[in-house]
Amino acid sequence: MKNLFYYGKQTIEQSDIDAVVNVLPSPFITQGPKSVEFENELKKFFGAKYASVVANGTASLHLIALALQWKKGDIIITSPITFLSSANCAIFVGATVDFVDINPKTYTIDTTKLEDKLKYYSSINKKVKAVVAVDFAGYPSDWKTLASLKNKYGFQLVNDFCHALGAEYFDDIQYAVKYADAVNFSFHPVKHITTGEGGAVLTNNELIDKRVKLLRTHGMTKDENELEKNDGPWYYEMHEVGFNYRITDFQCALGINQLKRLKKFIASRRKVAEYYDSFFKNDDRVVTPFVSKNVKHAYHLYPLQIKFDKLKIDKKEFYFRLKENGVVFQVHYIPVHLQPFYRKKFGFKAGDFPVAEKFYESEISIPIYPTLTKKDLKFITNAIKKTLDSYK
Ligand SMILES: *Cc1c(COP(=O)(O)O)cnc(C)c1O
Repeated sequence: MKNLFYYGKQTIEQSDIDAVVNVLPSPFITQGPKSVEFENELKKFFGAKYASVVANGTASLHLIALALQWKKGDIIITSPITFLSSANCAIFVGATVDFVDINPKTYTIDTTKLEDKLKYYSSINKKVKAVVAVDFAGYPSDWKTLASLKNKYGFQLVNDFCHALGAEYFDDIQYAVKYADAVNFSFHPVKHITTGEGGAVLTNNELIDKRVKLLRTHGMTKDENELEKNDGPWYYEMHEVGFNYRITDFQCALGINQLKRLKKFIASRRKVAEYYDSFFKNDDRVVTPFVSKNVKHAYHLYPLQIKFDKLKIDKKEFYFRLKENGVVFQVHYIPVHLQPFYRKKFGFKAGDFPVAEKFYESEISIPIYPTLTKKDLKFITNAIKKTLDSYK
């Protein structure tokens, strides 16, 4: 079978394998000392006061929704260009989801349109409870504007940060917790660092952290100050229903070892992006990701826009032609508001968020991961060029 290049791939080396294997004989294989160590390393790297590691990035969003006490009737706004979980977490707790279109340049939530929406809700005497901004592909949202809107309109701010580990915003790699009340991580294998399945919530807010940790383990507490009585050292109480969203210690051992190499991973991803940027620089059939002075992109994805419309190329047909040439793209994302669930539940329809919809039609995520070699990149770019040229 032919060797195919996919859009993402984890980087596992011998030291990762050793780290996991070393934990297996330990008395703690589920949440134990390695989980705490991973939390401490995450806190240090991202400059957060508190961290909780959990089973996956969807569980962490669910815990954020619970910790921020979203309820039925609360309006939660996110971007349509994201993974389902950024919106689903509001559904988990019975809240109402609304979207705001993306900025056509940065592909993150459009803060001008967000303010329009906030004004609209104010005008009908409704309050927006929270905004979940997504640092899409690894490009930080406009956090300064988001923070000022938060001050003005009084909503909670969540960063769905799954793509942006290692990104810098005004030269700050620790920006995420400074702007958002809670920051969501995923350690799925396609993300920058992996634990197989895994996630985390980082925050500077002690109360949010306390609630996340409580609800991560069924809502069970042994805290003396919370107990109604105390039958003995075995005793625990449950005041609120929680979940089992724990991650194992051997996964955390992998996470710790991966985090040590995050900066290296990011440097390699930036080199890949540079190669693509310069390769496609003068090709007016495509649009490469926006590069800004104030932002250092983390390139979880390399979203390449192809002017399929103008070139009269059918995207589906292009997919198979490019695959024939050795490259398999993915598309990030199918706009969430167009999912049947969201259309039926809230009445969203095609045309509601035109920038996002147009982006979906033109976007392809081409291979980007640390182990791609110069030779690979030459092959990939030639495959894309050859496929585009075949339509002439
Ligand atoms: C991956 C991802 C998630 C979900 O993470 P899982 O660990 O797969 O549950 C949520 N939001 C975004 C933006 C993601 O990329």
